[in-house]
Amino acid sequence: MKINKLQSEIFNRIAAGEVVESPASIVKELTENAIDAGATEITVSVRGGGIDSIRITDNGCGIDFDELPTAFLPHATSKIRSLDDLDTISTLGFRGEALPSIAAVADVTMISRTTESEFGGKIGYENGKLVMHEECGASFGTVITVTDLFKYIPARKKFLNKPSREETKIFTLIEHLVLANPNIVFKFDSETKHFSSPGEGLESAVFAVYGDTVLKNTVAVELDEPPMRVTGFACVPTFTKPSKNYQNVIINGRYVESQDIQYAVYSVYAQYLMKRQYPLFVLHITMPFDMVDVNVHPSKLQVKFADTVKVKSLVARAVKDAVLPKLTDAKKLDEEDFGVEPSPDYGKAHILRSFFDVVPNMQVAASSRQPVADEISTEPASSFVPSSDIPEPPPEKHYLDMQSVEYGAESAERFDPVVCEYIGKLFNTYLILEHGDNCYFIDQHAAHEKLLYDKLLRSYESKRLQTQPLMIPFVFDVSASDAELINENIDLFEDCGFGISPFGDYTFTLSYLPYECAGIDFQSFVSDLLLLVNSREKSPMILKERLMQSACKAAVKGEIDDLSKTEIESLLGEMSAKNITLFCPHGRPIAVCFSKKEIEKWFKRIV
Ligand code: ADP
Ligand code: MG
Repeated sequence: MKINKLQSEIFNRIAAGEVVESPASIVKELTENAIDAGATEITVSVRGGGIDSIRITDNGCGIDFDELPTAFLPHATSKIRSLDDLDTISTLGFRGEALPSIAAVADVTMISRTTESEFGGKIGYENGKLVMHEECGASFGTVITVTDLFKYIPARKKFLNKPSREETKIFTLIEHLVLANPNIVFKFDSETKHFSSPGEGLESAVFAVYGDTVLKNTVAVELDEPPMRVTGFACVPTFTKPSKNYQNVIINGRYVESQDIQYAVYSVYAQYLMKRQYPLFVLHITMPFDMVDVNVHPSKLQVKFADTVKVKSLVARAVKDAVLPKLTDAKKLDEEDFGVEPSPDYGKAHILRSFFDVVPNMQVAASSRQPVADEISTEPASSFVPSSDIPEPPPEKHYLDMQSVEYGAESAERFDPVVCEYIGKLFNTYLILEHGDNCYFIDQHAAHEKLLYDKLLRSYESKRLQTQPLMIPFVFDVSASDAELINENIDLFEDCGFGISPFGDYTFTLSYLPYECAGIDFQSFVSDLLLLVNSREKSPMILKERLMQSACKAAVKGEIDDLSKTEIESLLGEMSAKNITLFCPHGRPIAVCFSKKEIEKWFKRIV
């Protein structure tokens, strides 16, 4: 086999694969060059998701006319000179790969002018070859235009996503850049979108990217422990997100992905979070350049710390100090709000499955059914109904049979809330009922939620859904990727009676909802909505059912807890009349039963 030395043209294209995989990676390299050049204002303009064109304008130091071709040579960089420099890299770029790689896969024109120069210079590459290098008029700084990505490499063009998806990726990158460089003014435009950040510090950057609601629900983080420092913002524990997309780690000004840091922050919130809820944060961590290696990943997204344990503990402490006062508040709130997982151990209590359920002889083990966390399950379709280990309510006949059985204190008894005597309410949540030798606890929220859900589902199925407009539409902000997912589902929401429409790029309004869901807790609903669109569930019917479940959950949350005696009676009456299955739409039990005998055992009256 003959060994060939590759021509630079081929070599560059191979190398380009590492740097250029999508329009977003080009934007990343070019904006980083602008930042390294000291720009205070950077404009990113894309068309066709960046596949047709990307233009990046900066007011940085510019490149001398004579140096323009050098900038496009492989491994040509002004940022490092010697091997030693690699240990103390303070610039975003340093490998000298970006410009030649981009010129190898797209047509490129660069116009640049330094402050010392009277003219600007222009250089052009087509199909990897220099086609132009001439003087021209220009303002200070650099404009680079990249057109027709992968025009000469159709095999790679096939792997690009549709333009809207590529644009979202670019925009997510811009959001990260804004958060990482809060003192730079960023402007972005595409056929459909315009965005700009003011460049007035991190608070204004968080506001520009996430909006007012997020900013109001975060606290400032600041811990200075030379030579390291952590600053930024972290959410209060009651304001979490259904994905990790809102976790921003910036090390020495470089936006990175770091599971270590994510875990460190998560550890502070862990006990207060529902399953699949994550904290939102923007953290700037600074440390001497020799304490972190940025040269471990082609796109420099990952870093390696010299002392990971130290960095993690510092970050955890910084966040804890900031949110600890909020956590103490949080503890006082309803446990359910923080998704503390219900204990699967019900002792000798018996979870009732339906009104037809019987209280088993207490020698029989208690139901082993584990309540599922109150959340949108990502399990297969069938799981939205109380899962299969809960038997269907026995048929009427069975019930009649049970009636005909002579029973004593230990055996069967039909549970009917209206027949029971109402004793009182525990923890403002659990209704206590007594009948015969049994004591029942009813979770009033779960019961209410179940009734609402059944009603809503019936209206939907019988096509008699009535909607109610909101006097003041509820406005909410989401991330770029969540916005795309919401947009994809707008018709589905509407079909279920929820009027959600775009209101700006990443802002939506909820302007009407089903009649049954009046009084909804908007935050809780929107947070479930995001969880829902992020779940990989494709079936529209299941999505609709889960949407309605979330709405009912949020509607119950939004209601006052202090039910009057008459309201309690009507709730129990309705439960009885509708013969509901005694599990809420999320699968949590609604009613639990204790026998007198079991209680007598507690007090050793019997053994
Ligand atoms: P690297 O950023 O790793 O040095 P690049 O290929 O991205 O490599 O850029 C090569 C060189 O071109 C840089 O080192 C820098 O000197 C110069 N350069 C690139 N873009 C700009 C810009 N926007 N403004 C000023 N100089 C630039
Ligand atoms: Mg570079």
